Amino acid sequence: MTSVSVPPPYTGEKPMNYQQVLPQPVYVTQPVYVGAPLGILASHPMQCTCPHCRLQIVTRTESKIGLLTWLLCCGLLFFGLWPCAFIPFCVDECKDTVHYCPNCSAVLGVGKKL
Ligand SMILES: [Zn+2]
Repeated sequence: MTSVSVPPPYTGEKPMNYQQVLPQPVYVTQPVYVGAPLGILASHPMQCTCPHCRLQIVTRTESKIGLLTWLLCCGLLFFGLWPCAFIPFCVDECKDTVHYCPNCSAVLGVGKKL
């Protein structure tokens, strides 16, 4: 009498939630406006499509006092260079850059130095 080993029946089942087990790509969502150019952090005017008025525009930039400005000011004060402490407030490179749409004046992005 021969016993035939029978393999377990193949049910065709995949592991539970096979697709969901795979690691999903992580998309870091940043609070940028839809359609804002990726290089909006630049401190010079950028060409882009305004997400508000849908026009091809070159952004209008304004320099605003930011965190770096205050840190440089405090740093100069800390090292006893108080006569120079106002300089960061006069140098655009030390300030944040705000990009506006010249057509609808919407803020398209802020290029922060820090
Ligand atoms: Zn606009």
